[in-house]
Amino acid sequence: MVRATQYKPPELKSARELVLMRESGKLVARALQICRDMAKPGVKTIEIDQAVEKFYKSHDATPLFKGYPGKVPFPAVTCLSVNEEVVHGIPKARVLREGDLLKVDTACRLNGWCADRAIAIPIGTIRPEWARLVRVAGEALQIAIDELPRRKWWSEVASRMQKHVETSGFRMVEAYVGHGIGRNMHENPQVPNFVDRDTRKHDFRLEAGLVLAVEPMVNMGKADVKALGDHWTVVTKDGLPSVHVEHTLALTPHGVEIITADEGAFDDFPPVAASHAAPVAVGAS
Ligand code: MG
Repeated sequence: MVRATQYKPPELKSARELVLMRESGKLVARALQICRDMAKPGVKTIEIDQAVEKFYKSHDATPLFKGYPGKVPFPAVTCLSVNEEVVHGIPKARVLREGDLLKVDTACRLNGWCADRAIAIPIGTIRPEWARLVRVAGEALQIAIDELPRRKWWSEVASRMQKHVETSGFRMVEAYVGHGIGRNMHENPQVPNFVDRDTRKHDFRLEAGLVLAVEPMVNMGKADVKALGDHWTVVTKDGLPSVHVEHTLALTPHGVEIITADEGAFDDFPPVAASHAAPVAVGAS
C-alpha cells in the first residue's frame, strides 16, 4: 500500500481468528499456484487473472483488489507486474515472453477474513542478475520471518531487511509499505521494509496477535518509482527490474505462522534455489 502520513496502533488477533485467516491464506496460496502453472511464454497476463477470478468465485471468496478505489477502480483480482513494473500492474493483453520476470500479488476475503501474498515468477530462464534480484527479495522476506519472533520492535526487523538488500547491491522501495491485515486487507500498522526518521518515530512493538502483510519491493537500480498514466502501474524510474514478494505473517506465542504458506508447509518458507540455471519462484513450494 502507499506509504501514508497517519499512524495508528495495530489490532491484535485471537488464536481462533488466526485459524480463520489461515483458511483464507490457503486459498490465496492455491490461487498463486494456478498463476505459477499458467505463467509461461505465450500466455497473456489477462488470462492468468481470469483463471484466478474463476477460482475465487468457485470458493465463494471475495477478491480484494477488484474495484479497489483509486482515480479509476482497480479492474482485476490480481496485480500482474512485469520486469520494470514494481507493483499494481494491470492484467491485460500483454503476452509473457521467455526471460520476463512476472510478479503476482493477490488477496481475498473468506468467511470475513483476509489474506494477501505476492510471488515472483521467472518466465522460462531469466538473466542471472535478475535471478539474483529474485533471490535477494526472497531472502529479505525470509529475514522478516526469522527475526519477527526474536525482536522487540518492527524497526529492528526492517533495518535487517534493508541492510541485506543494500549490501547485495540493490535498493528497497520506500514509496510503498506493508500493512496490518485481518477483517480488512489494509489495517494498522504500516509495515515499512526500511528504517528512516519517520518510521522510527512510529515504530511498533512486536507482540502475539499481530498479523502483518510484509512485502519487500526490491529494485535492481535506484529506489525511485513512478505511476503510469493508467493510474495504477508503478514502474522503476530507471527502467531496471524490480521484485515484490509478500506473505501474511502472524506472530503467536509460539513464533511466526505463515498464514499464506502453501498447504502442508505451515511454517516452512521454502528457501529459494541457489542455482541461477533453474527458474526460481520466490514463495514457491
Ligand atoms: Mg499487501
